[in-house]
Amino acid sequence: MRVRYGGSGTPEELAVNDILRYRMYCEDYGQEQEGMRLYAALTRDARRCLACPAPCEARCPVGVPIRARMLGADAMLRFPARARPRSPGAATGS
Ligand code: SF4
Repeated sequence: MRVRYGGSGTPEELAVNDILRYRMYCEDYGQEQEGMRLYAALTRDARRCLACPAPCEARCPVGVPIRARMLGADAMLRFPARARPRSPGAATGS
């Protein structure tokens, strides 16, 4: 996590703001490929959150469940099959 709202950095030094923005591209704007492309270019992805006790959450002033959001972003952006279907045939498997 790159802490931008005070405190020192955490061991993993992930680009939380960027990763959650890429998730937003996919989840909210229907820009799955752009989100996945940007996520794939990162040198450190959100899988590192799996083994982390999430000190970031204690620092978040609005109580965002950052670890869960990051792991959800990883599942959404790293595995295309888990992304929300966009093509008409994708939902039916055709
Ligand atoms: S859970 Fe939080 S502190 Fe831990 S690696 Fe993920 S973003 Fe960084």
